[in-house]
Amino acid sequence: MPDLSPTELSSSQRPVKTLEDLFERIRAYYPQADLSIIQKAYEFSENAHEGQIRRSGEPYISHPLSVAAILADYRLDLDSIATGLLHDTVEDTHATLEDIKREFGPTIANLVDGVTKISQIKFKNSIEKQGENIRKMIVAMGKDVRVVLVKLADRLHNMRTLQFMQFEKQSRIAMETLEIYAPLAGRIGINSLKTELEDLCFRYYRPDMYYQLMQKIKKTEAETNRYIDDVKQTVAKSLEKTGIKFEIYGRSKHLWSIYRKMQARNIDYEQVFDVLAFRVIVNSVSECYEVLGHIHSLWKPIPGRFKDFIAMPKANNYQSLHTTLIGPGGDRIEIQIRTREMNLIAERGIAAHWRYKERGEITEETSQQANWLRDLVTWHQTVRNPEEFLDTVKTEMMESEIYVFTPNGDVKEFPEGSTPVDFAYSVHTDLGNKCVGARINGKIVPLKYVLQNGDTVEIITSKTQEPSKDWLKFVKTNKAKSKIRLFVKEEQRRRSLILGKDLVEKEFRKFGAAAVRYLKGEAFETYLKDEGLGSIDEMYIKIGYGKLEPKNLIERLLPKNSEKVEPKTDDVSFMEKVMKNATQKTRKSHSLVAVDGMSDVLIHFAKCCNPIPGDSIVGFISRGRGVSIHRSDCSKAFELDQMRKVDVGWNSGNTAAGQERIVRLKIVSHDVPGLLKSMSETFAVQGINIQSANIRTTKDKKAVCHFEISVKDSSQLNQAIFELQKIKGILGVSREMH
Ligand code: MN
Repeated sequence: MPDLSPTELSSSQRPVKTLEDLFERIRAYYPQADLSIIQKAYEFSENAHEGQIRRSGEPYISHPLSVAAILADYRLDLDSIATGLLHDTVEDTHATLEDIKREFGPTIANLVDGVTKISQIKFKNSIEKQGENIRKMIVAMGKDVRVVLVKLADRLHNMRTLQFMQFEKQSRIAMETLEIYAPLAGRIGINSLKTELEDLCFRYYRPDMYYQLMQKIKKTEAETNRYIDDVKQTVAKSLEKTGIKFEIYGRSKHLWSIYRKMQARNIDYEQVFDVLAFRVIVNSVSECYEVLGHIHSLWKPIPGRFKDFIAMPKANNYQSLHTTLIGPGGDRIEIQIRTREMNLIAERGIAAHWRYKERGEITEETSQQANWLRDLVTWHQTVRNPEEFLDTVKTEMMESEIYVFTPNGDVKEFPEGSTPVDFAYSVHTDLGNKCVGARINGKIVPLKYVLQNGDTVEIITSKTQEPSKDWLKFVKTNKAKSKIRLFVKEEQRRRSLILGKDLVEKEFRKFGAAAVRYLKGEAFETYLKDEGLGSIDEMYIKIGYGKLEPKNLIERLLPKNSEKVEPKTDDVSFMEKVMKNATQKTRKSHSLVAVDGMSDVLIHFAKCCNPIPGDSIVGFISRGRGVSIHRSDCSKAFELDQMRKVDVGWNSGNTAAGQERIVRLKIVSHDVPGLLKSMSETFAVQGINIQSANIRTTKDKKAVCHFEISVKDSSQLNQAIFELQKIKGILGVSREMH
C-alpha cells in the first residue's frame, strides 16, 4: 500500500512502550509542557492496574499508555492525556472517583467519570435497548466534549488490538464501532480516526470481503503505484513554473469506502473507477484555486463532481476543494486541494482546536462539532421515545447536507429535507417561534417548503405566530424539534394552569367562599402534601388537565357544615355539575370539538359568531365556563386575551342527531309571490329544518328574510346557500354573524 496519510499522524502507527515515549510525543508539539501531571497519572494508573494482564499478554498499563499516546497524536491538552492514562482505573480497579478527584482535581475526575459511564453501557442488539444506551452515552459525553475524544481513542486502541479477543466479541465490538463510534468520529470531523476505525471494523465485520479486497488491491499494487507516481509527476511539472510551494500525496481510498461503493452500485472491484485519491496541500486559499485551474487544464473534469467546501465548509468545519477528473488512461481520479490548516482540521476535527493550548477550553465559534453534541443533549432531554432518539442520532450522523444562504450571504448547513422553520430555529429560538413563512430567493413560500441547495432564505415573522405541534411533522433538525416540543409543552401547562385556577375559584364560589382565604395555611399545605403536589400551581395544572377534582379540595378545606349556595346534587361528579350549570349548548369536548392537549374540557359555542362544524374555529379559556369556541374570523375573538387561546378542532364524523347547530341566514330578494315557498322547499330538499322565519318588505320592492335553521355542518349549509342562490328573484344569501 502506498503512503496513506500525509500528516504527522502517521507517527501514531509507532507503538509507545514507555512513559518516556509518551513524554517525547507530547514534547514534540508542546515543548514547554509541565509533564508532572502525566507522570503522576501514569504512576497512579500503573499502581492501580498492578497485576492485571491484557489478552495480548502485555501488562494492562500498555493499554492506557497507548490511549494517552493516541490523544497526544491528536495534540490534545494535558487533562485529556492524563484522562487517557486513568480512564479504566475507576471501572476496573479498586480506585474510586473520589481518589481521582483528590489526586487530580475535579476536571480530570469529571472526564474519567464520563468515560467510565460510557464504558459501562452495554450495547444490546435489541433496538429498544440500543436507543436507551445511546441516550446514556450522549448524556455522559455532553458534559465535556473531551470525554468523546478519550472514548474514541480508547475504542481505537481496542480495535487495533481486537485480534486478541474471542470471535463473538470481535464481531459485536466491530458492529458497535461501525454503527456508533465511526460515524461519531466523522461527525465531529476526525476523519483519520473515522477511516481507521472503519477499516478495522470491516476486517472483523466481513472478514471474507475484507481479505478478498485486500488481495485484489495487492495484486495491482505495483501498477497502482506507477499510476500514482505518474499523476504526481504530471501535477508537479505543471505547477513548477507557478512557484507555488506544494505537497502532493496519492493513495487508494480506504477499503471500507471501496466496499461501500461496490455494495451501493452492486459492482466488482474492477468496476470501481474512482479508487485513487490525491491530495494537494498548499499554503493559501488563493493557491488552492490556482492549483485547481492548473489541474483542470491537465485532465478533463467530470461535470457535477466539483465541490467547493472552502466557500461552503461542512458542519464539522471540513474545508477543501474536491474534483473528479478523467485521469491518464481514462481512469477516474479524485483530487482534493486544501491548505495546511484545512488539512489539520480535516484530520483532527474537533481535536484541532486544542492545539498548543494546555488547559484549553474550546471556544463557541471554533467548534460547531461541540454545538452539535450539545444540541443532541438538549434533544435527548425533550424526546420521550428511545427509538425515536436513536433514529435521529443515526440520521443526523449519516444524512447528506444542503447549503443555503442567509440574506447577508452567510452559508448555513442543514440536513436534506429541512424547511424554513429549521432555518429560523438555527438562527434564534424567537425567530423560529414567530416564523410564518419565508422568502426564498425573493419568492414567498410556506413553512413546509423544502430548502434547496443554494437557496437564499429570509424568514418572515408575525408577532401573533406560535409554534404548533403540526410543525413536528415536517421539521428535520433536532434543534427545531426540541424547541417546538418545549414550547407546546409549556403552552399546555400555562393554559391548564389558567383553566384550573378558574375551576377552583368557581367551585369555592358555589359555597359562597373565596378561594384565596382557603388556599394557604396549614390545612392547605397538608392537602398539597397528601396529594403529592409540590406547589399551588402544580395543583391548578392537575385540575386544569382534569387529573384532579376540586371536590376533594373543598371537602378538605371548607368547614364541615358548609352549605352549597345552590341545590345539592351529591350523586353527580364535579364535571357533571359544572356541565349542568353551563348553558344547554355546552358539550363535552369529545363530542363535537377537540381541545388540544386537554381531556374532558367543557366547551361552549360563542353566541357572537355561532360556529358550526366545518367552520375554522379557535378556542378561548373563559372564566368558569371552560373553553368558548369562536369562528376564527370572528371579530370578538380578536379582542379576547390571546394568552387564553387554545388550539381546537372539530371531531370529524361525530355530528350525531341532536347535535345540529342553529345558524341565521339573511336572504334578500325581489318581492315576488311564491318565493318563500321555493325557499322552504329548498331547505326541505337539503334536509334542513327551519326554526323560525321573519320577513319584511322594503320600499324599493325588495323582501328581506331572516331564517333560523338547524344544520349539521358548514358543507350542508353551503350547499343550501348554493341552491338558494339559483332561485330566480333571489338577490343575495348570507350567513349572519350576530
Ligand atoms: Mn480502555
